[in-house]
Amino acid sequence: METEVILEVERRDTAKYKSGYPLIVKEAVRKIDALVEEGTLIKLVDEHQQFIGRGYYGKQNKGIGWILSNNEDEEINEEFFERKLGAAFSKRKQLFRSKDTNAFRIFNAEGDGVGGLTIDYFNGYYLINWYSEGIYSFYPRIIAALKKLVNYEGIYQKKRFDTGGHYIEEDGFIEGKRAQFPIMVKENGVNLAVYLNEGAMTGVFLDQRNVRITLRDKYAKDKTVLNTFSYTGVFSVFAALGGAAKTTSVDLANRSLAKTIEQFSVNGIDYEAHEIIVEDVFHYFKYAAKKKKKFDIVILDPPSFARSKKYTFSAAKDYKNLLKEAIDITEDHGVILASTNCASFDMKKFKGFIDQAFKESGVKYSLKEEFSLPSDFRTSKTFKEGNYLKVVFIQRLG
Ligand code: SAH
Repeated sequence: METEVILEVERRDTAKYKSGYPLIVKEAVRKIDALVEEGTLIKLVDEHQQFIGRGYYGKQNKGIGWILSNNEDEEINEEFFERKLGAAFSKRKQLFRSKDTNAFRIFNAEGDGVGGLTIDYFNGYYLINWYSEGIYSFYPRIIAALKKLVNYEGIYQKKRFDTGGHYIEEDGFIEGKRAQFPIMVKENGVNLAVYLNEGAMTGVFLDQRNVRITLRDKYAKDKTVLNTFSYTGVFSVFAALGGAAKTTSVDLANRSLAKTIEQFSVNGIDYEAHEIIVEDVFHYFKYAAKKKKKFDIVILDPPSFARSKKYTFSAAKDYKNLLKEAIDITEDHGVILASTNCASFDMKKFKGFIDQAFKESGVKYSLKEEFSLPSDFRTSKTFKEGNYLKVVFIQRLG
């Protein structure tokens, strides 16, 4: 067995780790100076040196590593990853059989037992996301396990940690056939253009699948839709296919124009019948309010943090004000689709922001429905923070 560093858990935290909490944080363990190289195996013990769990050293956001097993006899070898991946893939059997969806998550980090690692499936292609140098050090074992378990067209990867600039030159190709980008995938019958070779993002956030189909099938018909922070415009495409009268997509990034035209075009929608605006959303809100523009549906899906030339936005601090701007330009009985992927607050707090925003605007509302992560984005019962997505459809009343 490879060497491992033994770390003692602080007394106040032992109960939590014994009940399966997977994230190792530096405040909970003693003598972390013994950790030098990312990927080093860690054995967590209590104050009596009794085994609690085995994991690895890898810095990622607030953590310094993840517990992989609470079974003292379990080794972290190729078979370990084969068991974890195999169990995860069999839980997605139904999605693999689906005729109208062939893009989804097949391995969701700690929700499937290995924090720091996700794998997405895109119509025959597999995309691995490594979230730390530490998990990346298991590359040979994980790739061997994956290759044993699946038939693939190709395997790609993205390193989602600081590689000292090496990341930029790579296209992420690992095995199989190089893809012609974009790869075309389907989600509930809708075509989506996906790129596995362009930076951290792929063009589509797979975790919004249930929200998109709901927008298309229950809300969009005959409505005017403003899609803010629109990225590649996928919400606009679903709204248009659901019969929206018109969509307006607003995003600050220059690339969003060509990318949005592409997502409309691969679905045979005339993008010229829609508006695609490259602009700061906060500036657009001011313009729309001044022109007394109103929309039947306003979509808010900002990043957790954003900084533009004039504005900074932090979801935890500023979501309430963002909602107030949206309320001002939503028609009476119109709907605001409010979404956030910010992990630092939960649904209860998010609903608190919503309530405050409407109260301060002097407008009544009703919550129509809400979403968190879809089932392929499995989460762990012992790590609630992992269920980061919060989406609420809110109807403006009066
Ligand atoms: N709603 C999108 C995903 C949004 S990703 C989807 O479902 O696909 C966040 C987007 O916000 C990025 O495309 C980024 O360019 C954009 N963005 C960040 N700050 C912005 C701002 N101030 N104004 C407009 N767009 C912004």
